Amino acid sequence: HPDVEVPAHITTWEWIFESPRYSPVARQEKQKKELKQPAALAGYVNAITKERLDWAEVKAKATQLSSALMTEYGLRAGETVSLFSTNTIWYPVAMWAVIRAAGGRVNGASPAYNAEEMAHALRTAKSRFLLTLPTSLDVALTAAQQAGMARSHVLLLEGQVPGFTSVQDLIQRGSKYTPAPPYRIPPGKTNADVCGYLNFSSGTTGLPKAVMLSHQNIIAQCHQLKQLQTPGPYKILAVMPLFHITGLVRFCTYPLLVNGDSVMLPSFSMESMLQAICEFQIRELILVPPILIRLVRDKMVDNYDLRHVERWSSGSAPISPEIIALLQKKFPWTGFRQGYGATESTACISAHPPSHYDYKYAHTGGMLVANTVAKVMDLTTGEELAAGQTGEILARGPQIAMGYLDNAAATAETFDAEGFFHTGDVGHFDHQGLIHIEDRIKEMIKVKGQQVAPAELEDLLLGHPDVEDCAVLGIPDDYAGERPKAYVVLRKGVEQTPATGRRLLEFVKERKVRYKWIVEIEFTDQVPKSSTGKLLRRILKVRDKEG
Ligand code: AMP
Repeated sequence: HPDVEVPAHITTWEWIFESPRYSPVARQEKQKKELKQPAALAGYVNAITKERLDWAEVKAKATQLSSALMTEYGLRAGETVSLFSTNTIWYPVAMWAVIRAAGGRVNGASPAYNAEEMAHALRTAKSRFLLTLPTSLDVALTAAQQAGMARSHVLLLEGQVPGFTSVQDLIQRGSKYTPAPPYRIPPGKTNADVCGYLNFSSGTTGLPKAVMLSHQNIIAQCHQLKQLQTPGPYKILAVMPLFHITGLVRFCTYPLLVNGDSVMLPSFSMESMLQAICEFQIRELILVPPILIRLVRDKMVDNYDLRHVERWSSGSAPISPEIIALLQKKFPWTGFRQGYGATESTACISAHPPSHYDYKYAHTGGMLVANTVAKVMDLTTGEELAAGQTGEILARGPQIAMGYLDNAAATAETFDAEGFFHTGDVGHFDHQGLIHIEDRIKEMIKVKGQQVAPAELEDLLLGHPDVEDCAVLGIPDDYAGERPKAYVVLRKGVEQTPATGRRLLEFVKERKVRYKWIVEIEFTDQVPKSSTGKLLRRILKVRDKEG
């Protein structure tokens, strides 16, 4: 794809709310004058309640919220605000407020986390504030206490609970302050030097880390994606969570650049998604493979008229050829595309262009997006390979993250001196430039498109009195893609019985969010380790495959 221009000296706030060239606000003001029904202006919309904020309202409210956060709470440059919530229109308002304020950093965390997981997230992202919903308040408070965060720094994104301040309260109070000027990129720096977003990823190895995304990363990715868009009005249904990189880019940010609605689905069920697809006449769906599987298998889908859907888009995990074939059979009028990338690449490294929105290319991850170069390296020799040859995929471009927060070792291992991100994915490019993802060499397990770090489950199991040693790996799962399995070496004297296995499974269930639950335990005498004591997971994986 031809290169796109990426502005280098403005923040994402200036880019989308102040620049005459990119901001939808001025366009909306013009529309407002011309339209008889101003309610039709694009913005963030709640799919269930239909509550709506157009871009001018988002700008005004985020400005007021940032004023209140700075004036009353002293939010300062480089500080992190964590958002711990399901999809709501107030999530991106808070996000924009933090970005506008003195160069704050926004961190999204899974609303399914329990208190321990959330406390770990707060510590990893060094958060000073936690914004949540009344339904998650108890977990949020326990997590804040464990992480040493002041109770008064736990705020509500929406709703009212006595004794707690909400974003709406702050917006109201903020309207009385003279807004401080928005944060600007400091002289001598570019927007590639300033981190605005922290998203979790376990990367190649170890525990989840906070990936530092710059203002430039987000701006670049949005322009890269815009180049691949078909003409016509844009409207997207935010089914996937906002805390994931796809949500941050596709549902919180990109809709402003193309002045299209972002319809937020507050909680996922097939029924609520299908209803919203029909009600809002959504033409393209960005989904993960398990939901696409349900679209072809779930009988209830037949009760909905989906003939207006033009295209399915899949990402976050591999999709099987069987499901692709079933989708085409069931929805023969639709096109299909994939996005391939990672949190560390602000979502897409590659995607299908409109010329390839076709089931015949559906098994590939599309072509490199603009301004991006990739290479494929031999897994043993590290030599650069040619088209058609399989190896690890490396990518460089303005969407490649700055590194991991406070983790120089992991940063150096993943982002090399030439600026290439080592994806930990294995694949090849064909002669048309389409990428084929074949395997993953990094430890990460993907359950329904969500990351599970084996190290996190191993750390937990090692804390159980029955466990001497263990190794966790992903095993194929027809629906979720993968699920964690543990190989366990028991302490001397502990019996290898089904009851012991069940005890260990329960131990994990009580302490971890559902998608991280281990589905199988196999007892073993030892787990393979290198001479330096490093777990040799690949050997186990091969052994597991061979049964
Ligand atoms: P995350 O950072 O959670 O987005 O996870 C990134 C990882 O998900 C990648 O490194 C891949 O292993 C996997 N992934 C993302 N998109 C795709 C895709 N289209 N096909 C296969 N695997 C994918």
